[in-house]
Amino acid sequence: MAETVFQKSKTPKRIFLGLLLAVSLLLLGATFYLFIFVLDPRVIFTRGVLMGLTFFALLFTLLFLCGLLAIVFTIMRKRTLPGLHWLIDKTLLFLYPFVLQTGRFLHIAREKIERSFIEVNNQMVMAGAPRLKVKADELLLLFPHCLQYDKCPYKITRQVENCRRCGNCQMAEILRLSSDRGLHVEVVTGGTSARQAVQKHRPRAVVAVACERDLSSGMLDTFPLPVIGVINERPQGPCFNTRVDLKVLGAAIDALLQ
Ligand code: SF4
Repeated sequence: MAETVFQKSKTPKRIFLGLLLAVSLLLLGATFYLFIFVLDPRVIFTRGVLMGLTFFALLFTLLFLCGLLAIVFTIMRKRTLPGLHWLIDKTLLFLYPFVLQTGRFLHIAREKIERSFIEVNNQMVMAGAPRLKVKADELLLLFPHCLQYDKCPYKITRQVENCRRCGNCQMAEILRLSSDRGLHVEVVTGGTSARQAVQKHRPRAVVAVACERDLSSGMLDTFPLPVIGVINERPQGPCFNTRVDLKVLGAAIDALLQ
């Protein structure tokens, strides 16, 4: 049930996966071009160096293609294989900036690519969720400070318990939901404080609420730590009195909890 509700937030995965495939094929094409160049009889002095370069380029490209296949396999079979984590990690870390650049070249909005990446990441985490199943104190919930009512006088970024649960923003419901389950909650101001929160609690899994940009960069930073990303709602514009779909949040938590 939790999985069904959680997956209502679907965004096409094919945008990110298609761009990842395009980048891998471009790399393969460039390697092939390099190989043809090396075979040119006029290239004599630098042939050894170019051969070495071609070999490494081919090796990396094949690794990235295997990484892409591992991502697709994980999502389609809804199961993870432990040895594939490293491959997926390296593929995403190396190719993600190129994916964004290729998307930019093709006039695909960055936010759309980030949404698609978050969906791909969530599906991979969900694929491993049945085996992962963490205890309540091993799960960390991360929220952006823009979720707090802008006129609230209480500082909750260092001490979330400072919230008086007045109901002017969703923190009251979030704290009720998390204290019922005994979860760690942190309200963070950005990437650095999110990383500090992860170092402080050393969780086995994270459910993070944020905008597309913060979520995607946070996921890449902390990979292979399983992070389910829930994109926030911005009825009053970015970074101001944002909200989260509590049903989706609850479903993400339930999917990871024992
Ligand atoms: S619910 Fe908490 S954080 Fe939100 S406005 Fe009230 S006291 Fe402030």
